[in-house]
Amino acid sequence: MKRGIGIDLGGTKILGILMEEGGRILRKVDGNTGDPSSEKEVLRNLFSVIESLIEEGPVSSIGIGCAGPDDFENQVVVTSPNLPFIKNYPLKRVVEERFVIPTLVDNDVKMAALGELIFGDGKDLQPFFFITLGTGIGGALVSEGKVFRGVCNTAGEIGHTVFDWASTERCGCGKYGCLEVLASGTAIRRYVLRGLESGQPSVLQGVPPEKINARLVAEKARKGDELSREAYLKAAYWIGVAFSHLVQILNPRAIIIGGGMSEAWDLMEGKCLDVLASLTMEFPLKHLEIRRSPLGNLAGVMGACWMGMSSIK
Ligand SMILES: [Zn+2]
Repeated sequence: MKRGIGIDLGGTKILGILMEEGGRILRKVDGNTGDPSSEKEVLRNLFSVIESLIEEGPVSSIGIGCAGPDDFENQVVVTSPNLPFIKNYPLKRVVEERFVIPTLVDNDVKMAALGELIFGDGKDLQPFFFITLGTGIGGALVSEGKVFRGVCNTAGEIGHTVFDWASTERCGCGKYGCLEVLASGTAIRRYVLRGLESGQPSVLQGVPPEKINARLVAEKARKGDELSREAYLKAAYWIGVAFSHLVQILNPRAIIIGGGMSEAWDLMEGKCLDVLASLTMEFPLKHLEIRRSPLGNLAGVMGACWMGMSSIK
């Protein structure tokens, strides 16, 4: 059976798997990205993850997912917000020159959406919109067995769609009021830090700011901390607005939620569904399912591996 490598190249971590064609994961490696602005260091760490997976035996392909707009046709990563050295970067060529194994590069969320289609819940739920809620927010539409790419592979970028045009919050992409700046894990953290600064009562008062993240806030929210609950409800409101737009425009059978923040879906579900119901036509809403991804953080690497294998068939 054919074996391939799938890689998720992020700004802080590099996750790699060795997988059989049918989806059995033989090995998983967690690496650090190192200094994300140093090409040399990132490549050294990426290569070492790939090398340790190759040690297990012959590999037919490598698939790599990377954040940011990706010129899929020319296999060039245009920019990657978490890896500043990347500017029209020929990642496929660089990896192929080093390993002489056919390599395919794509946007990380598109690969995760395909992972969801092939190995997760997606197959029977098409068309579905896959959304990742985490430090950032990404999305991709899958229909008829394919990810919809648009004219230059940026379709589905819900995280950088402006929802609050009056917002003064500037997003990493340079615009104001993007969904990512309103509802991501980063937004939750910022909301709590501001509340603490302004003296709002919370069990998080006195906790060093660098220790406050969306996961800790979720833990405190579940224990009844009002400020933490508010932070999640505010994010849930904007996610509900975003879901409504997705349903109105795309009429999907499902929205599948991935990313680290999907673990806190219990804190957002009620609010999100209320907002969704109040903004959306009843008929398409009746046909919608909302699900959490069963694959967790493996969707991206499994999709990447599968895409790499499919490209050499
Ligand atoms: Zn943005």
